[in-house]
Amino acid sequence: MTELPRLGCAATEEVVAEFRDRATPIAELLAGKGFLDQWQAMAELGVLRMAQGTVTRSLAVIEGIGLAGIDPGVVYALASQLFGMQFPLRATLSEAAWAEFAHVQNGQTLVCHALTERKGGSDPLSMDTRARREGDGYVLDGAKTFITAAPVADLVLTFARTAEGRSPFALSAFLFPADTPGVIRGSEFDKTALSTVPMGELVFDGVRLPADSLVGEEGSGLAVMASTTAWERAVILGYALGPMRRLLRRITEWAGRREQFGRVMGNSHQVAARISDMAMAVHRSRTLLYAMAARLDAGTPARQLAAEAALTKISVSEDYVRLTEHATALSGVRAFIADSELPADLHSPMAALTYAGPNDLLRVGVARQFGLPVEN
Ligand SMILES: Cc1cc2nc3c(=O)[nH]c(=O)nc-3n(C[C@H](O)[C@H](O)[C@H](O)COP(=O)(O)OP(=O)(O)OC[C@H]3O[C@@H](n4cnc5c(N)ncnc54)[C@H](O)[C@@H]3O)c2cc1C
Repeated sequence: MTELPRLGCAATEEVVAEFRDRATPIAELLAGKGFLDQWQAMAELGVLRMAQGTVTRSLAVIEGIGLAGIDPGVVYALASQLFGMQFPLRATLSEAAWAEFAHVQNGQTLVCHALTERKGGSDPLSMDTRARREGDGYVLDGAKTFITAAPVADLVLTFARTAEGRSPFALSAFLFPADTPGVIRGSEFDKTALSTVPMGELVFDGVRLPADSLVGEEGSGLAVMASTTAWERAVILGYALGPMRRLLRRITEWAGRREQFGRVMGNSHQVAARISDMAMAVHRSRTLLYAMAARLDAGTPARQLAAEAALTKISVSEDYVRLTEHATALSGVRAFIADSELPADLHSPMAALTYAGPNDLLRVGVARQFGLPVEN
């Protein structure tokens, strides 16, 4: 029986268990359904609602539905909108703008975070997408690619150059409907990780945007991005806690019953060590993620948590990869047979090393914060 050390707060464990229990029967009904059906079912369960407003509660809800076996791609997309857009925009938008945006919590309006461009994602100040002032508003031209949910999104949060050069004030953020004339949904990518959630390209061809589509001030795009990405790095990997715990449980059960060399596999110290390393990965990840949620709930601005958020993202993503490696080793050939009881998804954990900032570059940023004169 896999019993993890419990979190300090019993109420949080109760929320995890409540959403696990509520989502479990739905998970079976949703198997094989399309992304939007699954998204809507989870929104109806209240996953995107910020009613009680705490990050800790939202994280527990995300962990709970993951633990119920809701498709990891769907849970990732929900966590991405919730933590990478809803929470940071609540802190950034004016009260009137938030009131207009807040309906996204019912799940019928899906938002995408369109930052990456064809020539690279890690260097936002090299972006080519431009917004030039015209009359009271802006005209947007450019293209964003590898965007989660772009093929189905109703609203676009994007970043564009409003001044030349690499000044920290050269970028601005915009939020607008995806059906604004001039927004073209380009290529859709058949991705190997988190494959349930669609990914695509958005082309902006002379998109006329009113002035109130600007998020914050003109020139504050990098600051908005610093906030959305710090939020993402801090807690988005909460989506992985459910899949990690499920894998730990499945492999432990397997090791406890598979017979090899005249005894069950779990009699081997080497097997036991892999299981305890997996448990350690889950425990460490939970502890770090809920600690970040507590810091955010205490009112610490996300941008002040940039270094801790990066360390959390690096640690949890790499623990997810290591845990998957251990599970794959213990599953043997079954890991590579699609309809076996232990098929491995290696791509999704590996993708976490790249999105929300590649770990290699996050490490450079952390070392810089410690005072090393290192640049990207
Ligand atoms: C599942 C998934 C979902 C995504 N969803 C979105 C989304 O919704 N919106 C969005 O805008 N983007 C999204 N992306 C794109 C993601 O943000 C980019 O992949 C990321 O920013 C990295 O950009 P890149 O892939 O161009 O990698 P690159 O910038 O080309 O970097 C690739 C690798 O090169 C190495 N490298 C490059 N430069 C350096 C350096 N100076 N120092 C050290 N190492 C270096 C590192 O190993 C790095 O991992 C998603 C990606 C994935 C995998």
